[in-house]
Amino acid sequence: MTRKKKTYGLRLRTRGGAAIQKRWTNIMLQMKQPHKCPSCASPKVKREAAGIWSCTKCGYKFAGGAYVPSTKLGQASARVQTA
Ligand SMILES: [Zn+2]
Repeated sequence: MTRKKKTYGLRLRTRGGAAIQKRWTNIMLQMKQPHKCPSCASPKVKREAAGIWSCTKCGYKFAGGAYVPSTKLGQASARVQTA
């Protein structure tokens, strides 16, 4: 009998060990979650490339974090610009 390795839905096929695989999986899961559109507020935002996000409903395209549409650092910089 062969033992099957436990895998998550997403798996990083590279070297680096379990710690990096887990971290990568967490980031990927966060990335694939439905994100709220800043224009029409519907959770239809998908990542186009690193830092580029677009809403599939209204077509709104905006820049954000590499793996999440809005990062804490981005929010902080936005606050500085408006002040
Ligand atoms: Zn939208």
